[in-house]
Amino acid sequence: MRILLVEDDPMIGESVRAGLRQDGFAVDWVQDGRAAEVALGTEPFELVLLDLGLPRLGGLELLRGLRGRKNDVPVVIITARDAVSDRIAGLDAGADDYVVKPFDLDELAARIRAVARRRSGRSEAVIKYRDLTLNPATRETSVDGRTVALSGREFALLLALLERPGAVLSRAQLEEKLYGWNEEVESNAVEVHIHALRRKLGANLIKNIRGVGYYVPKRP
Ligand code: CA
Repeated sequence: MRILLVEDDPMIGESVRAGLRQDGFAVDWVQDGRAAEVALGTEPFELVLLDLGLPRLGGLELLRGLRGRKNDVPVVIITARDAVSDRIAGLDAGADDYVVKPFDLDELAARIRAVARRRSGRSEAVIKYRDLTLNPATRETSVDGRTVALSGREFALLLALLERPGAVLSRAQLEEKLYGWNEEVESNAVEVHIHALRRKLGANLIKNIRGVGYYVPKRP
């Protein structure tokens, strides 16, 4: 899952980015509101972590602008402002959730997963597909109850495909979900991950349309 982190405090920004990357998220980080607007106008982010007190353009103004332009990317506000009125203003401006600093990174990751789950219309925390079970919280995968070890990126790729069975995702779309700006992407990285997933989970799970992309068939 590709996340844009908007935070001007270097220490908080660095630790949130590092922590979420460890949790398997692809995180890009900008430090002011204008840079966030540019990033959101050019890249397909799946969620925004938004500080309120920001240089050049404040978080609330940024959020109101996004919603005014009918951009409904999920937004979780992260801020030290814990006054009830700020919280209300953030939610009324179109935020999906609100986390007050200092926060626990595990809690932040759990809230991100909860927002993503609500937005995708799933109520269950665990994803089941045929005999396969994926748990985004623990990043555990099992087939028929037997645990299968996947790398962080293999898991993220499989999750992206299983969130919308039948939808074809191109190699570029998958790369965007797996890698942030500063991360080196080998030209055949997606193919390598797909190959590993097929080897571990069976050749029939992930289908491929040559030159178009990859998908898992609609159930059953
Ligand atoms: Ca700030």
